[in-house]
Amino acid sequence: MAPSAQSLPTSVSDEKYANVKWEELGFGFYRTDSMYVAKCKHGESFQEGKIVPYADLQISPCSAVLNYGQGLYEGLKAYRTEDGRIMLFRPDQNALRLQSGAHRLCMPCPSVDQFVSAVKQVVLANKKWIPPPGRGTLYLRSVLFGSGPILGSFPVSEYTFTMFACPVGRYHSDNAGLNLKIEDKFRRAFPGGTGGVKSITNYSPVWITVAEAKAQGFSDVLFLDAATGKNVEELYASNVFIVKGNVVSTPEISGTILPGITRKCIIELTRDFGYKVEERVVPVEDLLDAEEVFCSGTAAIVTTIASVTFKDKKTGFKTGDKTLAAKLFATLTDIQLGRVEDKNGWTVEIDRCHQCETLKL
Ligand SMILES: *Cc1c(COP(=O)(O)O)cnc(C)c1O
Repeated sequence: MAPSAQSLPTSVSDEKYANVKWEELGFGFYRTDSMYVAKCKHGESFQEGKIVPYADLQISPCSAVLNYGQGLYEGLKAYRTEDGRIMLFRPDQNALRLQSGAHRLCMPCPSVDQFVSAVKQVVLANKKWIPPPGRGTLYLRSVLFGSGPILGSFPVSEYTFTMFACPVGRYHSDNAGLNLKIEDKFRRAFPGGTGGVKSITNYSPVWITVAEAKAQGFSDVLFLDAATGKNVEELYASNVFIVKGNVVSTPEISGTILPGITRKCIIELTRDFGYKVEERVVPVEDLLDAEEVFCSGTAAIVTTIASVTFKDKKTGFKTGDKTLAAKLFATLTDIQLGRVEDKNGWTVEIDRCHQCETLKL
């Protein structure tokens, strides 16, 4: 918790919930009440934005985002604890990642404080949409994009930063673990490209293969590196780990995989558990030879991978309660839901911050 945070109670026990069938929540778009919008002119910096009713945005048909894909997104979650507090998990890390992406895509970016303040405001403005403890979380999605028109010449005249909220349940519905297809043709990112930032341009180019894999009954796709096609990179939107004996390995950050915040937490936690953690090049053979494989992300949390299929050959891995993935899932969600002491200082409790009081939220 930030040292300056005031400890006004944020009891939600008596508060009304939105009319949602919480037990049926999946991971998808759900319209909520309010969103945050801030705009910035070229050459200026982002000023404090506004909470406004959730609505479509008006945008120039000639905008940078529509024509050239100048956009970045971030995703994080707000959690309700059993004792009625509202928590965030490492929101500063999302803010910093957005900054590095903004630099890569030539955009100005809200400061870390602005970003975190926007998150708190959006959560408080949509408080009744935060699922009850254990039923799900409130997913916060932000998008930073070039909203000004651009046809030939730079610069883009205006940028927009927006954030909205959707109640979500589980991302993957495969209880027994995921069955992945190792993609041998399409690539997700290339050296020197934008794979290392959450650029909106990284996702739809691989829908063709994700859709095909899903139609074939797979849960998700595991991508290989573009340079050699020999090494494992990551899934569509989550990072991958392999376990063999006392060694946990994950592809190193080299610009072609997204530096996941969950990935970073898992590296710390597994070291605390006494494993040796290696961030390195992970050849497909090493993955096929692993005892256990799992993926990580804000949406996926930690999800066991039951099998991978590479060139039509299926290889299975350990699943169930005794896996490292199960232990990590439990540890991480206990910290996020405030059930255990947060020794790493990862959680941020949302108090009725000054700004939100003035906004009468
Ligand atoms: C968002 C994302 C992840 C996971 O990052 P987290 O910060 O853990 O949510 C991993 N890979 C890709 C491609 C992503 O877009």
